Amino acid sequence: MISDNISINSAGHLCFAGHDTVELAGKYGTPLYLIDEQRVRERCRIYAEAMKNAFGGDSHPLFASKALSFKRIYEIINEEGIGTDIVSPGELYTAVLAGFPMEKAYFHGNNKTDEDIAFAIDSKIGYFVCDNIEELKAINAEAGNRGIRQNILLRITPGIDPHTLEKISTGKVDSKFGAAIETGQAEEITAAALTLPNIRLRGFHCHIGSQIFEFEPFCDAARTMLSFIADIKAKHGYEAEELNLGGGMAVRYKEEHPSISYADNIAQIGALIDSLCKELGINKPTILMEPGRSIVADAGMTLYTAGTLKEIKGFKTYVSIDGGMCDNPRYALYGSPYTVMLANRANDEADCVCTVAGRCCESGDLIQENVALPRPKRGDIVAVLTTGAYNYSMSSNYNRLPRPALVMLDGDRDYVAVRRETYADITRNDV
Ligand SMILES: *Cc1c(COP(=O)(O)O)cnc(C)c1O
Repeated sequence: MISDNISINSAGHLCFAGHDTVELAGKYGTPLYLIDEQRVRERCRIYAEAMKNAFGGDSHPLFASKALSFKRIYEIINEEGIGTDIVSPGELYTAVLAGFPMEKAYFHGNNKTDEDIAFAIDSKIGYFVCDNIEELKAINAEAGNRGIRQNILLRITPGIDPHTLEKISTGKVDSKFGAAIETGQAEEITAAALTLPNIRLRGFHCHIGSQIFEFEPFCDAARTMLSFIADIKAKHGYEAEELNLGGGMAVRYKEEHPSISYADNIAQIGALIDSLCKELGINKPTILMEPGRSIVADAGMTLYTAGTLKEIKGFKTYVSIDGGMCDNPRYALYGSPYTVMLANRANDEADCVCTVAGRCCESGDLIQENVALPRPKRGDIVAVLTTGAYNYSMSSNYNRLPRPALVMLDGDRDYVAVRRETYADITRNDV
């Protein structure tokens, strides 16, 4: 199996986190998001422990909550003692509602409005990760209005090609995010931050992209950022206390993907940082990382019910499901790979090559193409694996389809963390 929280029981049913998924589909209906709570907790601990060992001091992970945002997840990561990053006022609001300690929250994004900034400061956000000079001035002004000095990091573009999909690559010089070292804008924004009275510059941030299997791009990023810190120290007499290396470690979506030891990677980055700091003559900063996908992806699974099987002889076989791009837009957006199985016939021979199509009115509404399944029948339960990241958080009401429920699996227990939307929910704001 692609992940060790997945198995098949004696009835030939797919099990997730020890629960029979066919029973869960019966109990809660489909489409249905499942999240393995213990897996999320394990991953938080792996990161927290590995970072403490590798980087020492106050170094710790922040969960990139854009990967999966709802009240309960903020409670869980808070119970695990890690921080979070948020990218919108809606995520901020959710974290506040969940009682998340906001001093451990970092506010990202390339276009925070004045309203967002005021809301975040009034919510006592720990840090802004500031993207550009205009934003820097706006934060300075709002902080000044309240008589406080606001902690910030500056988002720097290190100019690294992470060898991942173009659309999820963020650290190259022409990115919409951050200030590039190469163009001199990174130094410029640093100099500006140091002159503003209501801002306390704590350090720098970079995030080079997502779903990165290779280890080298992270080392390159650390190297480039530490050199930048040394350069700024030499030129401006300012030494960064924090360096945030972002997220991006890859996840295994298909059998052919390698599995990654996050702890080993972190240990190696730690050794590199130690030697670079010595070489460059700078103090070792507190290191932060922002895993999103690698905390929650394989903690998730989505269940659907199969509808029509459409065979177009000599061309294609479609199996249609009762969800689609409205609950998982990632294949339609950028061709993301997923493993698909029939949950109620998990041991049957996969003799039928299908395209798994959603129910939305779009030809591009596909979950995956060319997957081998036991020939699907109407009523079969279709499981899409490894959907914990960027599925629920990217879902929409396209075609006025209600969002699925999200059920947590915690040992023997299963409970609803996000209830299924109703038609009344869908029309709630229609005047
Ligand atoms: C998306 C994002 C992350 C998380 O990336 P993953 O690939 O999910 O680990 C972390 N930091 C920033 C700034 C991001 O935009």
